[in-house]
Amino acid sequence: MAASVDWARAARELREALGYGDGVLAGPDELLVYAYDASFESMIQPSLPDLVVLPRDTQDVARTVRFAGERGIPVTPRGASTGQAGGALPVRGGIVLDMTRLDQIVELDAPNLQVIVQPGVVHASLNAFLAPHGLIFPPDPGSSRMCTVGGMVANNSRGMRALKYGCTGDYVLGMEVVLPDGQVITTGSINSRALQSSSGLELTKLFVGSEGLLGIITQLRLRVVPVPQARGMVMALFDRLESTGESVSAVLRAGLLPSAIEILDATAIQAVNIYRPALKLPSAEAILLYEVDGNPPGVAHEAARIAEVVAPFAQRVEWSDEPKRVAALWEARSVVGAASGQVRPGAARVYAGEDICVPLTRVPETLRAIQDTAKRHGLTVVTYGHIASGNIHPAPVIDVANAEEVRRVRLFADEIHRLARRMGGTVTGEHGVGMTRIPYMREEHGPALDAMRRIKDALDPKGIMNPGKLFGEG
Ligand SMILES: Cc1cc2nc3c(=O)[nH]c(=O)nc-3n(C[C@H](O)[C@H](O)[C@H](O)COP(=O)(O)OP(=O)(O)OC[C@H]3O[C@@H](n4cnc5c(N)ncnc54)[C@H](O)[C@@H]3O)c2cc1C
Repeated sequence: MAASVDWARAARELREALGYGDGVLAGPDELLVYAYDASFESMIQPSLPDLVVLPRDTQDVARTVRFAGERGIPVTPRGASTGQAGGALPVRGGIVLDMTRLDQIVELDAPNLQVIVQPGVVHASLNAFLAPHGLIFPPDPGSSRMCTVGGMVANNSRGMRALKYGCTGDYVLGMEVVLPDGQVITTGSINSRALQSSSGLELTKLFVGSEGLLGIITQLRLRVVPVPQARGMVMALFDRLESTGESVSAVLRAGLLPSAIEILDATAIQAVNIYRPALKLPSAEAILLYEVDGNPPGVAHEAARIAEVVAPFAQRVEWSDEPKRVAALWEARSVVGAASGQVRPGAARVYAGEDICVPLTRVPETLRAIQDTAKRHGLTVVTYGHIASGNIHPAPVIDVANAEEVRRVRLFADEIHRLARRMGGTVTGEHGVGMTRIPYMREEHGPALDAMRRIKDALDPKGIMNPGKLFGEG
């Protein structure tokens, strides 16, 4: 594909077709930036694009895609490149479409509880814009201050509050998409402001989680909800990993629905304490943080009830609805990703086997197996995650320059992915397949993978959209 392209000429022609110079990057230094995302794979083996286009509007995207289609050039859309699975990497070269210039909030329709945005809007900026209106876009990934809403939709991101609020896809009412032949379509009914619809095939859902394989999202109609007036937090310390899972089941069986239940294992607690000593997290085999939200009396009642239900399983429980304490405890969870690397000076946290999701009943067993696997491979692994959804994030901390450690972490990641499947789960709970989880797709989906392929071929017969992902073709 695109082997015989004269890239200098292609850059000139694209600049002409788009009518602006600074939107097409072709210099080696400029291209290098786009060879990486947050994945371990790109750390080890970056993927250079041949050109980068920064579109200003939908028509720029459509023109670029048509240009690429005529020449058989691969096109890979990219948001903020915080993806951990290499989804935004141009593994077959070609054009990267950097969507970050499309960062406008087009319209807030507060009475109809929706907002129209361009895909390059950063998640935290959207919520900062919505806050004075008493509204929130609830999905809450740890990368909120960096990732784009388009990337969240393309990966169907989740995050800490998925237990109560669901995934990004639950808030997408419709979207504008540039198809691989350059045609622009609107899903979720043209000019609709309805909050629900049963009209036609659910194309919106098809593009949610499509990881740039089926088209490029150029506008989104998103559902928003009122901001909860108060938040409360319960922190419980456990001596046994098994008790963490039991406490989660007990809370849910008691008819309580926290907005989040997050787990930090002993190494994660150590990492947070090194990174933010002021938080002074107590030592334990694991800490669980249960967040509740709603109106102030309801929050206090629910937090107290959770503490009561959890107490028989825990070594110690405390709860608070005092905003400063709640913020401090939530910070402990929020920083754990960044803090992980601190447990081993001179080493770095890598995203490898970092996103499995298993049934709730198998979480404690899985946590134990992760620790055993890490020990067997002589690796330091910090583990945290969204325990109530069964979504576990093991974080290996290695010396990336050490080939032997790289070899061992690859083995570790493979075993963790296979562990997830053995436990009756999936190799990715929220980060997506990208290039790193292709080897598990056949086993995970069977003939359904062929059905996905047929959908891909129908929409993208030339195979230009983000090739080398999901099916691993070529
Ligand atoms: C510190 C950290 C914490 C994280 N925490 C979470 C978390 O809690 N929950 C979670 O779910 N994820 C998390 N992530 C993963 C990642 O941030 C999310 O998947 C995020 O939504 C990706 O957004 P992005 O803009 O960076 O997309 P990118 O990484 O740039 O792209 C991701 C995928 O989307 C495609 N894409 C991007 N824009 C478009 C578009 N406009 N049209 C079509 N396809 C497009 C790309 O081709 C690629 O396949 C975390 C990552 C980091 C680094």
